[in-house]
Amino acid sequence: MALFVQKYGGTSVGSTERIKNVARRVAKYYAQGHELVVVVSAMSGETNRLITLAKEIQTNPDPRELDVMVSTGEQVTVALLAMALKELNVKAKSYTGAQVRILTDNAYTKARILKIDEDRIRSDLKAGYVVVVAGFQGIDEANNITTLGRGGSDTTGVALAAALKADECQIYTDVNGIYTTDPRIVPEARRLKTITFEEMLEMASLGSKVLQIRAVEFAGKYKVKLRVLSSFEEEGEGTLITFEENHNIMEQAVISGIAFNRDEAKITILGAPDHPGVAYQILGPVADANIGVDMIIQNVSHDGTTDFSFTVNRSEFTNTMGILKDKILPHIGARDVIGGDKIAKVSVVGVGMRSHAGIASKMFRVLAEEGINIQMISTSEIKISVVVDEKYMELAVRVLHKAFDLDRAQ
Ligand code: ASP
Ligand code: MG
Repeated sequence: MALFVQKYGGTSVGSTERIKNVARRVAKYYAQGHELVVVVSAMSGETNRLITLAKEIQTNPDPRELDVMVSTGEQVTVALLAMALKELNVKAKSYTGAQVRILTDNAYTKARILKIDEDRIRSDLKAGYVVVVAGFQGIDEANNITTLGRGGSDTTGVALAAALKADECQIYTDVNGIYTTDPRIVPEARRLKTITFEEMLEMASLGSKVLQIRAVEFAGKYKVKLRVLSSFEEEGEGTLITFEENHNIMEQAVISGIAFNRDEAKITILGAPDHPGVAYQILGPVADANIGVDMIIQNVSHDGTTDFSFTVNRSEFTNTMGILKDKILPHIGARDVIGGDKIAKVSVVGVGMRSHAGIASKMFRVLAEEGINIQMISTSEIKISVVVDEKYMELAVRVLHKAFDLDRAQ
C-alpha cells in the first residue's frame, strides 16, 4: 500500500471521455489498496480561452481578477473527475486550492506556494476517499485567489506530494517520459528509465515541455520522488527522476541527453576598454532592466581593449541592443555593439561527465567534422553548451546524439 499523488495534464482531461479514462486508471490503483490524491489541470485549451476572454475586456488584464477567472478551468475538471469516480463506485471528493488551503504569496499569476494544510486531505484518505485537487491555484493570506504560473499544476502535484510525504508523485502527460532528445528531431531518441534531478534541470529546454521547471526545483528541494508517465498508455514505467547517481561507473552513461534551445540572442561589445568595472558597467544596466543573461564571454585583451559577448532571451534582444547603444556604449567608450538572434544553443548533459575526461573535445570534434562553427562555449560540471548558427541546430543535435551513443540502450 502506497500513497501516490497523480497529476493529469490538460490533454489527459481534454474531454469527458478522457476524464472517464483517468477515472478508470485512478480506480485501478484504488482497487489495489493505494491511497490517492489526484491533481488535474484545466481541459486543454481552456486556460488560453479564458485569458483571451479577459484580454477582450482589458489589454492588460487586472492580475487579481485574471486569477479569479483562470482558476475556474481547474474547478471544472476536479468536479468532473470526482463525478466520474463516483460513477465507478469510488468514493471521491474534489477541492479547489483555496478549500485545501494551499497558501501562497500574493504574486498574482505567478504565486509561490508557502504552506499546505494537509489535515483535511489526510482525514479524507483515512476515510477511504480519493481526493481530487485543482492544480495551478492557491490562496494568499488575505484570501485572494492566486495562480502559480502556466504549467503550475505540476507544482501543485509536487507540493502536495511533499506535504503528504507521498511515496511517489506521478505526472501523467501526453508523452511517455523524458527522452534523450526531442524525437521530432532525432527519431532514434530513447526514453530514459531514470534521469537525475540535476540533469533534469539542465535538460530544461526539453523537459520544460513536459514538466514545469519550478516543479522540478520544488521536487529537488523536498526530495520528492517524481515520475513522468503517459496517460494514454495502459502500462509503462515512464521516467523516474532520481536523486541517486549510478555509482557503478561502468553502468553510468556518460551523456544522458542532448538539449537545445532557439530562445536566445547573442550580443557582442567590440573594443570595450579593459579595466576594472567594465563588466559591471555593461551588465549592470541590463540587470536593472530585469533582463536575464545566460552565457558571458570576455576575450583576452590586446591594446587595452577587449570584446565582451553575452546571450539574452531572444524576446529581449531589441530591448537589450537599445540599452547598450543608448546607455552603455557612449558611457564606456567601446567601439561598437553587434548582435544576432539567429543562433541556437546545443548542450550535452550528463552526470557521468564528472568522471570522464575528453567529453568537450569529442563534442567539438564531432561538430567540426560537420563544418559547424562554434560561436560561444560554456560549461558546468555536468553540461557543455555551444552556441551555433540556428540553421545548423538540428544537424548538431543529430550528430551529437549519434556520437555519444544515445541511440543505444541504456
Ligand atoms: N491550466 C494551467 C495552464 O494551462 C495550469 C496547468 O495546466 O498546469 O497553464
Ligand atoms: Mg503541463
